[in-house]
Amino acid sequence: MNIEDGILEHITNEVYIFDINTFKFIYINKSAQINLGYSKKEIKKFTADKLNLKVSKENFTKSVGLPLINNEVNSILLSTTLQRKDKTCYEVELSLLKTVYEGRVAYVAIALDLTEQINMKKTLASQAETLRKLTHYVPGTLYQFKLYPDGRSSFPYASENIYDLYEVNAESLMQNAIEGFVRHHPDDEKKIYDTIQKSAQTMDEWSCEYRVNLPNKGLRWLEGHSTPEKLADDSVLWHGYLMDITERKATEKLLLKQQTVLQQQAYYDSLTGLANRRLLLDRLGKAIQKGTRHTSKLALLFIDLDNFKEINDSLGHDAGDKVLIEITSILTAIIRSEDTIARLGGDEFTILLENITNTESVATVCNKILQKLAHPIKIDGSELYISCSIGISLFPDDGIKVHDLLKYADSAMYKAKREGKNNFQFYDTKLTELATERVIMETGLRLAIKNKELEVYYQPQVDGRTDKLIGIEALVRWNHPTMGLVPPAKFIPIAEATPLIIDLDRFVMEQAMTQVAHWYEKGLNPGGLALNLSVKQIQQKDYISSIQLLMKKIKFKPYWLELEVTEGQIMTNPKKAIKTLQKIRNLGIDLAIDDFGTGYSSLSYLKKLPINKLKIDREFIKNLPESKEDAAITQGIIILTKILNLDVIAEGVETEEQKNFLIEGGCNAIQGYLYSKPVTAVELEVILQNGCRMQSNSRQRVY
Ligand code: C2E
Ligand code: CA
Ligand code: CA
Repeated sequence: MNIEDGILEHITNEVYIFDINTFKFIYINKSAQINLGYSKKEIKKFTADKLNLKVSKENFTKSVGLPLINNEVNSILLSTTLQRKDKTCYEVELSLLKTVYEGRVAYVAIALDLTEQINMKKTLASQAETLRKLTHYVPGTLYQFKLYPDGRSSFPYASENIYDLYEVNAESLMQNAIEGFVRHHPDDEKKIYDTIQKSAQTMDEWSCEYRVNLPNKGLRWLEGHSTPEKLADDSVLWHGYLMDITERKATEKLLLKQQTVLQQQAYYDSLTGLANRRLLLDRLGKAIQKGTRHTSKLALLFIDLDNFKEINDSLGHDAGDKVLIEITSILTAIIRSEDTIARLGGDEFTILLENITNTESVATVCNKILQKLAHPIKIDGSELYISCSIGISLFPDDGIKVHDLLKYADSAMYKAKREGKNNFQFYDTKLTELATERVIMETGLRLAIKNKELEVYYQPQVDGRTDKLIGIEALVRWNHPTMGLVPPAKFIPIAEATPLIIDLDRFVMEQAMTQVAHWYEKGLNPGGLALNLSVKQIQQKDYISSIQLLMKKIKFKPYWLELEVTEGQIMTNPKKAIKTLQKIRNLGIDLAIDDFGTGYSSLSYLKKLPINKLKIDREFIKNLPESKEDAAITQGIIILTKILNLDVIAEGVETEEQKNFLIEGGCNAIQGYLYSKPVTAVELEVILQNGCRMQSNSRQRVY
C-alpha cells in the first residue's frame, strides 16, 4: 500500500477508483467497503455499473462524462444512488475526476453519503407540513420578521395563510419582504415603522393595529403581536402572529356609536342639544367641588320664558319648538364656552357661570340676555316678542349644595315673575338692588356726559413745611339731577367696566387742563395738575396725539401735568403699560403711581417703570402714627422713593400728627382734608388769589 492509499483508506468519504477503459474497480477505501458491505476482493470483480453508479461505460462516455473526457473540466459532480450488497440503496453525491493510479489512467469517484442530509430534509419537510397543517386552523398568520443592523429586513418564515391577510404568497414574501410592506395603508406606515423600532430598542413585545390596502379585499384592519429576539449578528428576529380584525373594528365602532347615542340621550336634551337636568346637576356638583378647592364663586341662572305658553297654544308645538331652538342659540352666543347651558324641560333653561369675579359680571350677562330678547325673533314668517325672567343664586354666598342652589335660583326666578317679568333677581335681594342701581347708574352716566352733569373739583397738594400750595389733583363729581352729588366711588367702577370711562376721563382732562392753562394765563400759579387716568384711556391709539393737540390748542405746558395711574391697572399688562407710559414721559409729562402699596407691584417692575412719583395710599395714613405697622410701611415707602430717586406725596392726611410724622420721615408733600377737601374751580381760584397759602385745619372733617 502506498501513501495515497494510506490517506484514502482513512478518510470518511467513500472513494472508488476504476479503470477508464474497462470501468472495473481498481480500488475502494474502507468507508466504501463498510457502506457497501463488499470486501475489497469482491469489488474488484465488478464494473462500476454493478453499483448502479450511473456511470455505466456507455452512459458515461456518451453523455455525463463528456466534459471530463474532453478535458473541458477537471471534475464533474453527480447525484446518484448506490446499491449495497444487501440490495438496499442510498443517495450519494459523487465527485469524479481523472487520475493516474498504479500506472494507468483511472477515474476517482469520491462519494458523499447524502442519507443524513436527505433524512434531515425529510424531517424538516414533514415538520413544515405539520406546521402548515396546524397554521391552517389558526385564524391568523404566524410569521418571523427579521431586521438587520443595516436596516434591511426579511421574512424568514410566514405561514401559508398570510395570503388571506396580505394577498401575497408566503414564499414570495419570504423572498421579497417589500411585497408585504407595499400593502400598508400610507397613514399607518409611520406607526408600524415606529413601533418596530421601539420594540427593537426595548426588546418589548411589538403590537400594533394597522390598515392594509389589498388588491382584492380592499381596506382591512390587521392586528399584530410578536416577540423580539436579539441574534448574534445584532439583527432582531420577531416571532409572532397577525390577524384580520376588520369585523371586530366595525363592531367596536358600532358599539361606540350606540354608546354615544345612549349617552346623548341620557345627558342631553333631544330638541336643543343642550345639557339636560341630569348633566346640569352633575356639572354643578363638580363646579361646587372645584369652587370649594379654589375658593372661586359660581352663579346659577334660572331662566323661564314669560309668554311661552301663549305661543305654544296659539301657534302650535312646532312653532314652540322653533322658539326653544332659537332661544338656545341666543343664549349660547352670550355665554363663554366654559359655561353650561341646560334645558330643564318646557321653557325652563339654566346657565351655570363658573369662576365669576363679581356679581356685576353676572348682572351683565343677565342684562345681555334681556336685551337680546328685547328684539323680536322670526318664526315661520311671524315676528315674536319673547321675554324671560331670570333668578340667580350664588355659590357659596347663598348655598353650597346643588339642590339648594337650584331651589334658590328657582325661587328668585319667581320673584322676577312677581316683579313684572322681563327682569332678573338675585336670591339675595340686596344684590338685586345693587344691580338695579348699577343699571340706572350706567344709563344715567351715559347721559351725564352729554348733559354736562359732570364737574371737576380740585384738591390742593401742599408742602407741609411751608403750608404753600404746590399742586392740585382733579377729581370728578357728578351732579345728578335727582340723586344730588354722587361720589366717584359709586360711578367710576361702573364707568371703568364699560367704554364710558374713556369719554369721562377725556372730559375731565380737557376741562381741568383748560382751567389750569387759564389760571396760568391769568398769572396765577396752581402748581402741577394731577389727573387720574384709567389705563383704558391712555392705551387709546390716538391718546398721545390728542393730548399733544390739546396742549397746543390751549397753550398748556407738558411739565404742568402729572398723570396718576394705579398699580393694579399697570399690572394687568405691565409690558404694554411700560411702553405707553414711556411715550407719555417722552412728551415731558410726569407720572405718579396712585394708591401705592395696595397693589402687588414687584420691585423689579417698579425699577422699570418710567415714573417720577409715588403716592402713598390713604389706607396707610389713616391710622398714623398709632399703628406701628402702618408707620413702618409708610416709612418704608418713603425710603424706597429716596433709593429710587422718586418724589413722594401722601394722600388722605387728616391730622396734624399724621402730617408731622410724614414730614419727619421725609415726605413733605401732603394732600388731604387737613388742608382742604376737593373744591370747585371757583373756590380754588380764591386760594390762588390769596397767594396759595393753605391753612391746616385738623378739626375740619368734611366729605
Ligand atoms: P384717588 O385718586 O385715590 O383720589 C383720592 C380720593 O381720596 C378722593 O376721593 C379724595 O376726595 C379722597 N380724599 C382726599 N383727601 C382725603 C382725606 O383726607 N380723607 C378722606 N377720607 N378722603 C380723602 P374721590 O374724589 O371720592 O375719588 C375717589 C376715586 O375716584 C379716586 O381715588 C380716583 O381713583 C377716582 N377718580 C376721581 N376722579 C376721577 C377721574 O376724573 N378719572 C378717573 N379715572 N378716576 C377718578
Ligand atoms: Ca388719584
Ligand atoms: Ca389714591
